[in-house]
Amino acid sequence: MSGSTQRFDAVIIGAGFAGMYMLYRMREMGLYVRVFEAGGDVGGTWYWNRYPGARCDIESMEYSYQFSDELQQEWDWTERYAAQPEILSYAQHVADRFDLRDDIQFNTRVESAHFDEAGDVWRVTTSDGETATARYVVAATGCLSVPNEPDIPGSDSFEGEVYHTGRWPHETVDFSGKRVAVIGTGSSAIQAIPLIAEQAAHLTVHQRTPNFSIPARNGPLDPELQRRIKARYADLRERNKKMGFGFGARHPQNQGFVMEMSAEEREEWFERFWNNGGLTFGLAFGDMIIDKEANDVAAEFVKRKIRERIEDPAVADKLMPTSTFFCKRLCADTDYFETYNRDNVTLVDVNEDPIETITATGIRTASGEESYDCIVFATGFDAMTGALTRMDIRGVDGLALKDKWQAGPKTYLGLETSGFPNLFMIPGPGSPSVLTNMLPSIEQHVDFIADCMAYMDEHNLKRIDADPDAEEAWVEHVNEVADTTLYPSCNSWYLGANIPGKARVFLPLLGFPEYVEKCNEVAANGYQGFRLS
Ligand code: NAP
Repeated sequence: MSGSTQRFDAVIIGAGFAGMYMLYRMREMGLYVRVFEAGGDVGGTWYWNRYPGARCDIESMEYSYQFSDELQQEWDWTERYAAQPEILSYAQHVADRFDLRDDIQFNTRVESAHFDEAGDVWRVTTSDGETATARYVVAATGCLSVPNEPDIPGSDSFEGEVYHTGRWPHETVDFSGKRVAVIGTGSSAIQAIPLIAEQAAHLTVHQRTPNFSIPARNGPLDPELQRRIKARYADLRERNKKMGFGFGARHPQNQGFVMEMSAEEREEWFERFWNNGGLTFGLAFGDMIIDKEANDVAAEFVKRKIRERIEDPAVADKLMPTSTFFCKRLCADTDYFETYNRDNVTLVDVNEDPIETITATGIRTASGEESYDCIVFATGFDAMTGALTRMDIRGVDGLALKDKWQAGPKTYLGLETSGFPNLFMIPGPGSPSVLTNMLPSIEQHVDFIADCMAYMDEHNLKRIDADPDAEEAWVEHVNEVADTTLYPSCNSWYLGANIPGKARVFLPLLGFPEYVEKCNEVAANGYQGFRLS
């Protein structure tokens, strides 16, 4: 096929949950679509993140599609929080059930997408030398899909096994009898470390920032609970749409404020959420992420609970989070802190004992060299913009997306960026995305885009582009909302702070229901804020 050009109505980049549902909707509309997917199968993040312990920390009954009632009724989840293999099987089931694979070209990476102004089409080139043209391009490229590979001196010289949690091999990795180093202590590491420690002869964890984590309290999903939820599934889905983060309506919620309660009352309330487990702890009080005093109270509660899980007070000191609570993505764990009570686990604080270089046989820190058989990078992702800016995307007048976004991404509603007509993002920076349950966010985006395309056809329109003024106002709005909270006060990937040289801009929008309302209003007003021609 090398050298050929195929014509499509739309090209979708990525066959994760966003790409799959976008394909489904476009096909229903009678569009001729091709999905290009770099991986060997569907599933996106769940295809690549196969590290030990990988699971979703949104509950299974909520982290699933709702567009098809038959689908949500027929699929049975086995655990409160599904593990990666089960979520991947679910994605594969969806692909089979709706015959999606016919229009997906696997093992094919999109290298470039250039807008041809004369013909109002996008010209897309792929890693296998093909060219495709399409009226629409939808980048369903994921928020956390480009691994962050830190530039540690000597990285290439290591002769042992090297892994990145975000690019885990498909073959079984056996750490038995091996000396393993993990770099990083974010969500991925917190899930992987307990399981690696069970296998390895010795595990050393290099920690840069200690993280807050709440016990997930995972377990088998009670079939009776599953039956009850399914009996009124639409009701739960609707109630979740009114939740700030798009999930958790089934759980206790407190609309009250930490500082308005007596010490005893708030202790009781925190305890309740602590026992409920996982990210639902974030629903405990409305002011934890707004008011520093309230935040400190919540942080003290969680730190006290963490300390109780660790036997050695010196190790506990190192593991005590120092940043604002909730400001970095909250983690949910199973036995993470208890893992440091094992004899075969060592914690190294890189602030006290920095990594100087990786050598052929191990890692040299300021205090000396340790030899390892395996190094696991659990160092996260170039979040939200990485997958978009690393493709050669050029819009009107040949403007490159990575140049336009040099000082930070600019979008309108996180759906389009001006100067790049008919190019949609699911979900782009400036949308609630990573601050929500991703599945309903994805469905909302896809439905908006599909409806918009239908509107364009009805009105005989060829181009839709974000209005630059609407875009400026939107970027300002996203930042204003973030500035009313404590989110910008620490070095998180929400701010791009984990990638050296990346512009420091708050990337997601806080507030799912308000966002959906705004999108509905925009659509009802003839796609206000977009230029249609
Ligand atoms: P992450 O949260 O960005 O964590 C990366 C870790 O690596 C951090 O501890 C970071 O330290 C450290 N690090 C980065 N560069 C380093 C360097 N040069 N030297 C030493 N340490 C370094 O990445 P992640 O754990 O892969 O998680 C990313 C996101 O994916 C999560 O926040 C979550 O949204 C999602 N996720 C979800 C689940 C789930 O649903 N359960 C599981 C995994 C991931 P600093 O904190 O100092 O930067």
